[in-house]
Amino acid sequence: MNKLYEGKAKIVYASEDEQKLIVFFKDSATAFDATKKAQVEGKGAINNTISSILFELLEKHNIKTHFIKKLSDREMLVWKAKRFELEVVVRNITAGSICKRLGLAEGIELKKPLVEFFYKNDELHDPLICKSHALMLSLATEEQIEEMERIALQVNEVLKDFFHSCGLILVDFKLEFGILPDGSIAVIDEISPDTCRLWDAKTKEKLDKDRFRFDLGDLMEGYRKILEKIQR
Ligand code: UDP
Repeated sequence: MNKLYEGKAKIVYASEDEQKLIVFFKDSATAFDATKKAQVEGKGAINNTISSILFELLEKHNIKTHFIKKLSDREMLVWKAKRFELEVVVRNITAGSICKRLGLAEGIELKKPLVEFFYKNDELHDPLICKSHALMLSLATEEQIEEMERIALQVNEVLKDFFHSCGLILVDFKLEFGILPDGSIAVIDEISPDTCRLWDAKTKEKLDKDRFRFDLGDLMEGYRKILEKIQR
């Protein structure tokens, strides 16, 4: 297969249709700007499965995504999209970088969801930016930024309700967006325990990538618990 791009967790290949791509989910785990790395057997397959379930859920709620179908254990067929160099984070509860940046304790419930934009730039370590910076850097137009924010909040409502019904708390998550061949803005990349913080609603156990970041326990055990709960 013709490899187009290799990232930390995925490889993107061309497909027979030039409007479609194949995403391959790798078994590598990275954190803290890839200064912490490990191979985790089975992670690629489980993230592909969880991402596929969540993209299908969003599609069911009329939220556009690049997802077409799951091809195999580790492969997903997606629409080719022109990616925005932005990461859009939505937070319901404080954790991670917002605690460090603003001196907050972890676990504070926010009165309303918070949307943050990060500039996707490895050299600069993906800095937090405001909408004016995104405009100044021509990362998107004002309308596109507003639409990404609107979709991100809609995704939050769908995912929060869904995870709640599965006994999970959606603390925060990161989305990426792109423009599809038909010109519409869609959610791209992945939605998995690598990109979401998910806590067990009863025990508050952390089931996501924080297990790897902070050596809280077996990563795959957490990811398997998430999959079991969302498949019920
Ligand atoms: N996140 C991600 N990729 C990144 C940065 C963050 O998927 O490059 C996710 C992360 O897993 C969490 C949310 O976005 O669910 C918010 O992350 P935060 O800003 O707290 O950053 P952290 O310091 O935890 O990476």
